[in-house]
Amino acid sequence: MQFNLNIAEIFVPDGLPEQEALSRTTHLAIGAHQDDLEIMAAAPILECFQQAERWFTGVVVTDGRGSPRAGLYQEYTDEQMHLVRLKEQKKAAIVGEFAAQVMLDYPSPAVKDASDRRPVEDIQTLLQMARPQQVFTHNLADKHDTHVGVALKVISAIRGLPEAARPEKLYGCEVWRDLDWMVDVDKVPLYLSAHENLQAALLGVFDSQISGGKRYDLATLGRRRANATYFESHGVDTSLGLAYAMDLTPLIHHPQLDIAGYVQAHITRFSQDVADRLRRIESATGT
Ligand SMILES: [Zn+2]
Repeated sequence: MQFNLNIAEIFVPDGLPEQEALSRTTHLAIGAHQDDLEIMAAAPILECFQQAERWFTGVVVTDGRGSPRAGLYQEYTDEQMHLVRLKEQKKAAIVGEFAAQVMLDYPSPAVKDASDRRPVEDIQTLLQMARPQQVFTHNLADKHDTHVGVALKVISAIRGLPEAARPEKLYGCEVWRDLDWMVDVDKVPLYLSAHENLQAALLGVFDSQISGGKRYDLATLGRRRANATYFESHGVDTSLGLAYAMDLTPLIHHPQLDIAGYVQAHITRFSQDVADRLRRIESATGT
């Protein structure tokens, strides 16, 4: 497969030829950094695990060269760090039995530059080869610029495809900001009760990010547990783990929809919910 950067790489854990590996994809997740997929897209990874008819493909857009480093990795050069993160992402692809893991290898500034179309073109190439039914990426209210940059490139890529070639669904998932704030009708629940061991293993391989003191593994599993418990205030827990997604599907099927306005409408519904509750309880008579 031909991508814009010749350093881009496709890793196929079971060794099938690239085209064959990618064309079996049903669920595709596109994240900014190595480990984002395992944080935000564990549900589709597990939904495809050991399933003959469902296959997960992961795409990491940036190169990991500028990653923070501490402890064991403190003295690593950007190039050594790049190799470590690449290796960690491949380990996750093996643990999760991905159909394929694609590393597009762009420096972060390319993702945050709206005029740089190269990642958009690469994502289009991939989508046309993989033809996934569902696509997962960062949510548009994330507080990391590179994450939002990736989500915008994904939307742009899908919008540029002929209608028949677009996936059925696009979801924006949680990494640097959770989606608990959305009103319940806006939440797309991604259930994560099963395979807690695999969830832990998928997060645990990213030692270079965790051992420096950022316990993304514990934090992510904790967020899933917290979401599950705090989802329903009047019922018992129905799942052990839950992640939320924002449904971005309208943005890909209606390319004229304003992206910022679409997200703002979610924030407005949240704001309205808070205000309505306060007004209701302030004016309640207690009878
Ligand atoms: Zn990230």
